Amino acid sequence: MRFFPIFLDPAAGAFVVAGSGEASEAKVRLLISAGAHVRWFVAARHVQVDSNLVAIFDRAPVESDLDGSIAVISAAGDPIDGQLYAWAKARNIPVNVVDRPELCTFITPAIIDRGEVVVAVGTSGSAPVLARRIREQIETLLPARIGELAEIIGHWRARVAKKLRAVRDRRRFWEQIIDGPAAQASLSGKANDADASIAKLLKQAGNGEPLREGIVHIVGAGPGDPDLLTIKALRAMQDADIVFYDELVTPEILERVRRDAERVFVGKKRGDHGVGQEEINRRIADAARAGQRVIRLKGGDPFVFGRGGEEVEVLREAGIAYVIVPGITSALGCAAEAELPLTFRNESTRVAIVTAHRADQSAADWTGFADPLTTVVAYMGLAGAPKVRDGLILAGRDPATPAAVIARGTRKDSQTAVGRLDALPALAAQVGKGPALIVVGQTVRRSAKWLEELAKERAA
Ligand code: SAH
Repeated sequence: MRFFPIFLDPAAGAFVVAGSGEASEAKVRLLISAGAHVRWFVAARHVQVDSNLVAIFDRAPVESDLDGSIAVISAAGDPIDGQLYAWAKARNIPVNVVDRPELCTFITPAIIDRGEVVVAVGTSGSAPVLARRIREQIETLLPARIGELAEIIGHWRARVAKKLRAVRDRRRFWEQIIDGPAAQASLSGKANDADASIAKLLKQAGNGEPLREGIVHIVGAGPGDPDLLTIKALRAMQDADIVFYDELVTPEILERVRRDAERVFVGKKRGDHGVGQEEINRRIADAARAGQRVIRLKGGDPFVFGRGGEEVEVLREAGIAYVIVPGITSALGCAAEAELPLTFRNESTRVAIVTAHRADQSAADWTGFADPLTTVVAYMGLAGAPKVRDGLILAGRDPATPAAVIARGTRKDSQTAVGRLDALPALAAQVGKGPALIVVGQTVRRSAKWLEELAKERAA
């Protein structure tokens, strides 16, 4: 470590800045955003900044201009740079001459600013571009509302310190908050819930009750490609104690779950209905009540034919904290992969997401999808292909309407078959095993597979 990082209080004094170029202006803007007072030595005609935090001096600085200053930044060019450096050095005021490492007693880092939470990244001045890249990587890791969380914790700190005297108790308390429902509420923008949760936990802690509170994340894992997980899903997965997953969750996705987390399969196996929804609900609730961070991991999106709605109702009723993390539903993942636009100007103005298979086994009503400008996406489509074909044709769709069956979309072995609506069962037979989607509508003609087949036909 060549430089020691500290954070300066901008209220402690003024910053002296000299120079008129881009570098000085960028620094001045940054200082203003931190609420700092700036004495800027610059030719007034160059100044684009208007803030009552900035005093403009249209002249060269003199030594007494450093009175009461807490840092000096110069990009004025010699001899002013050298002069400022010498004065600051003599008075032990930190000084930075831009792009002159030999004239710097401090350097400025790349900054991630999330309100109360600030991350500063430095490379000791060696590689500013690398610092910026590291900053981008950290940006994606930090929840957007982390600053709000810090603020809430700040509000409670004194009260908690008063109630929990031992440092160890306090540390454990804050760990519970940061890992638990209070933080989740705050990160979801629900400050009131976060406050209530902290109040409740503080009361428990004051009474000497155990602190740990469970939480359930109902997480959409997307259609199969692990790179299609959301950042929020990934974060929850890496924080989990136990994961309940179903048959649509690929091994590549499971690999992203925290190594030490327990993995419980609750999906259906071929010819077997699995453990059943009620049993799943019960196990999830039990784990959360035991204080675990539970992930309910589902293929696609939890609220699209995923029974996430039912699970939420159970948790609500049981008073268990939960967070819903959306996923890319297979219709969207498959459409993107197949280059098949679901809407298109003048060709498709509506998308219907339906299931080919209904729990009550009764025939679905297809009359609502007769409009030729509707793209129909049927989930659970492989076995249901004849039903979809008959239903749509009976409802009035042209038997020649383009249709696609997309199986195992976004996975390594994904496969697509395209043809006419009246040939749907044959298309379904071409793609092999599921999971698979059926897409019916004009825009199938624009998909990569359709164009590929067309080119083959023409060549033949
Ligand atoms: N919640 C899921 C859907 C669950 S229902 C989602 O939002 O995608 C199960 C059906 O989803 C399957 O029968 C199939 O129609 C569809 N499906 C899920 N993953 C798929 C994939 N990778 N490729 C094609 N279809 C998929």
